[in-house]
Amino acid sequence: MASHPTNLHFVLFPLMAQGHMIPMIDMARMLAQRGSIVTIITTPVNANRFKSVIDRAIEANLNIQILELQFPCVEVGLPKGCENFDLLPSYAHADNMILAMNMLEEPAENMLRGLCPPPSCIISDGCFPWTNDVAKRLSIPRVVFYGPGCFAFLCIHIVTRTNILDEIDSNSEYFVMPGLPDQIEVTKPQASTWGRGDTKESTVVFERMQEAEIDALGIVVNSFEELEPKYVEGLAKAKDKNVWCIGPVSLCNKSFQDRAERGNRTAINRHDCLKWLDSREAGSVIYVCLGSLSYASTEQAIELGLGLESSNIPFLWFMRHTSEDFEAWLSKEGYEERIKGRGVMVRGWAPQILILSHHAIGGFVTHCGWNSTLEGISAGIPMVTWPHFAEQFLNERFIINVLKIGVRIGMDVPIMFAELDESKVIVKRDDVKEVVESLMKNDEEGEARRKRSREFAVVAKRAMEEGGSSHRNMTSMIQAVLEELAKNTTPIQDIV
Ligand code: UDP
Repeated sequence: MASHPTNLHFVLFPLMAQGHMIPMIDMARMLAQRGSIVTIITTPVNANRFKSVIDRAIEANLNIQILELQFPCVEVGLPKGCENFDLLPSYAHADNMILAMNMLEEPAENMLRGLCPPPSCIISDGCFPWTNDVAKRLSIPRVVFYGPGCFAFLCIHIVTRTNILDEIDSNSEYFVMPGLPDQIEVTKPQASTWGRGDTKESTVVFERMQEAEIDALGIVVNSFEELEPKYVEGLAKAKDKNVWCIGPVSLCNKSFQDRAERGNRTAINRHDCLKWLDSREAGSVIYVCLGSLSYASTEQAIELGLGLESSNIPFLWFMRHTSEDFEAWLSKEGYEERIKGRGVMVRGWAPQILILSHHAIGGFVTHCGWNSTLEGISAGIPMVTWPHFAEQFLNERFIINVLKIGVRIGMDVPIMFAELDESKVIVKRDDVKEVVESLMKNDEEGEARRKRSREFAVVAKRAMEEGGSSHRNMTSMIQAVLEELAKNTTPIQDIV
């Protein structure tokens, strides 16, 4: 149920990747709960994934809708229906996706001009820099959303706005990231897989993103101030912008269904999954899920499977994708029979926030995507960190060095999503076993990690409640939009 109306109409443009869409859909419902009208603009395949969530929001009297723009897949050489980064045939196709995204400017603007009531603010993913030009033509403010938290975002700002990386020759040497309040060491590849394009198309987009950011009213971040106060402040100062931390947005999902069906249809009968967890001791199970894009090669999946099996820890392991060779290995080995009673392996989409909040879960093997990181924090769960690409290595540093609630699996070299080398093994079974057992141990270090994790979860929940920091920040963001609109004396009807 919405609070009193703000008379604002927010239009949201989420990037077509689950790690960006999921938090934006949460944000959309939070804005609607605060009395705004909300329109989400996306493509048919993506709209379909969120239909049931939005239908439930509408049933709950929220003023929210999804509108669809056709995605020019075929025109840019992508297979029909390839409308999300998780559907790309390979990493080499990422540029085609960017080309198609850039072609949405004109149809999106036409759609905005036809909206009733007219839009009052665009909240768009940073990867759509053209929304800045559209916002300017419509004389409405634009708020930008990127995905990462303030710590990683500040690191990205430092490496993209200085020439620090040009001074480093080695790809394996760790260097201290300058200008941070904590001593953070990373390698050049770990610090540069986000924010600096590796192809012509992505470089152009990143440059345009920086230019578009200058005009933005502010940056909305899925984080909470108490988690990273020095970095929130540092980021606002570095960007010279309002930074509104309004999360953890996953906590806005209160009903069982919203928590179980977030982002996609789940692969397991949710009640079976929970029944299995119900039968386990509190804090005894480790949950393994490497996000919506990361991919374990056949050989890597085998090592992970054997490592989990040889550890003494009950596990719930979700795999987004399995290869034919891996399936053949599973049946030849009778792996699933062998682990029965102690472990469960599921192919497909996990009801992640539901699982993380189950009392049986005591640890999380994560690829350190920011959403997963924050969801682990919100549930008070310590983590085994296994970053792959993007800003995940920076998130790992945050979990390990700043929050001190994790154990590294020992991944040093980034590997891009959809980079299909089936024989690639980076993490060995013995490392999986050792690290999982170490995280779950009841020794002094383990207890300290668990205690800190539980404390962050309490503060996260408080931040999202009425009067909490994230709740207040959303009020400030709405207020800033109202003030910006008041400055603009031309009625939108005269512009369209
Ligand atoms: N997620 C999920 N089930 C899965 C895989 C992912 O619910 O099986 C959700 C997860 O809860 C998170 C998002 O998908 O909200 C993934 O975002 P993240 O930033 O963690 O990583 P990415 O997938 O973008 O690498």
